[in-house]
Amino acid sequence: MDTLRPDRLGCYGHPNARTPFWDRLARRGTQFRTALASAPFTVPSHATILTGEYPFRHRVRRNETQRFDPPGATLAEALADRGRRTAAFVASVVLDESTGLDRGFDHYEWRTRPEQLERPADDVVRSALRWVEALTPPDSWFLFVHVYDPHDPYDPPRPWDRAYPGEAYDGEIAFTDHALDDLRRGLEAAGRMEGAMIVAVADHGEAFGEHEETGHGFFVYDTTLRVPLVLTGGAFDGGGARDDVARTIDLFPTIAEAFGFSADSPGRSLQHPDEKETESYGETFYAALTYDRVAELRSLRAGRWKYVHAPREELYDVVADPGETKNLVAEEPVKAAEVRDRLLAMLDDDLARPAGLAGTEEIDPKRVEELRALGYAAGGRRAATDLPRLRDPKDLVGIPDLLDRAEALAEDGRWGDARPLVDRVLVKDPYNPKAIRLLARRHFMRGEAEEGFSVYEHTLERYPEAAKVWRGYASELRRRGRREEAEEALRRAEGLEGGTLP
Ligand SMILES: [Zn+2]
Repeated sequence: MDTLRPDRLGCYGHPNARTPFWDRLARRGTQFRTALASAPFTVPSHATILTGEYPFRHRVRRNETQRFDPPGATLAEALADRGRRTAAFVASVVLDESTGLDRGFDHYEWRTRPEQLERPADDVVRSALRWVEALTPPDSWFLFVHVYDPHDPYDPPRPWDRAYPGEAYDGEIAFTDHALDDLRRGLEAAGRMEGAMIVAVADHGEAFGEHEETGHGFFVYDTTLRVPLVLTGGAFDGGGARDDVARTIDLFPTIAEAFGFSADSPGRSLQHPDEKETESYGETFYAALTYDRVAELRSLRAGRWKYVHAPREELYDVVADPGETKNLVAEEPVKAAEVRDRLLAMLDDDLARPAGLAGTEEIDPKRVEELRALGYAAGGRRAATDLPRLRDPKDLVGIPDLLDRAEALAEDGRWGDARPLVDRVLVKDPYNPKAIRLLARRHFMRGEAEEGFSVYEHTLERYPEAAKVWRGYASELRRRGRREEAEEALRRAEGLEGGTLP
């Protein structure tokens, strides 16, 4: 279930929840009070669920289309190799087959009509049920169902829009839970649940103002990394609620053990309660990939301590302070250093890659030479100590929300209302590529091309290292037929993104 905070479910303590599917599973099976995703957004987190690997191994760092090509077998491949029929029914274009996440599935379906970008949960469930019903016994099967409704915008269908006045997010969860309960009932009615194992989990949570964050993706706090997790079937029936920490990297090895094989994953099978301190890694590259000269965020939770690697480091005692409100890095420098060292050792060479190249893309050595020949200091490997020279996402929080609102207003032609929001963004981030584009677009739309270009030129004069502004400038130049200048601007962007910090 996409975008689901555990605390909105009855089984995790929400007093007014209407979540019978989750609550019944929790009563019957094993519920993990603390379960953690490895990234607070959809595609990287799903890549972890389906590979049992952290993002620095499967290399999926963003939602936008990229090559997903992990070296090992995916969960679906491992199960297909052992004779299972496999199918995935996903609810959003964000998980379409261009992500590569369809690897190993006999059937991978994300829409039923060409114009669809997302599907409601009841529609996904109907397709999934039809697929299982069409199998011939004694076929065994692996069904992956992804439902997306709780994702923003919160707009529950009737009657769930009235169930929680002012809390449309809860209405979406109630609607989605109801659809999943229909799936369970349908499978039972078809006689397909005998000996079945169910794993119910989310890809990430959702923030509603915690740490000034809304939505998900910007930070690596538990607000968005914590997910609900309940398992039923076999050893998990009657397991009750458990306090040892589970991670989404554990799902592959857990399913593997239940079906009699072992998985090559850093995770552990959840059949056995963990006696020692489970470590859990989380990361987000959202701000680093969206804005210029911003650091990636990586975190490691070890026992009661959670360390966040950022230009201004953070350390929290997640037992005493589950809201991660009191940064103890100055009070507990030894503890902070200890967890930091473990995190850096775990990351190995991943930290040396500049954010823009931290995904599946490798730096082509020939390209580096070409850029050097043109005078760009490209291709440098970054040292871990360079991080303080980048900006901290904490200083840019709130920008995505301001930009969303400004863009919506500008689209409605309400430029007068949009402008103050753009100005607020530029106070926080004077070379914000989206804010600059909004300012320039305003001129281009009025036919004032020179004024539009000068918005870029003034910004780049002051901030020549703003690679994404160069990129925006290049596309506006190209759009207006100034090809050579566009090429040059693009080379500047690529040179800066190639790695060496100014
Ligand atoms: Zn998601």
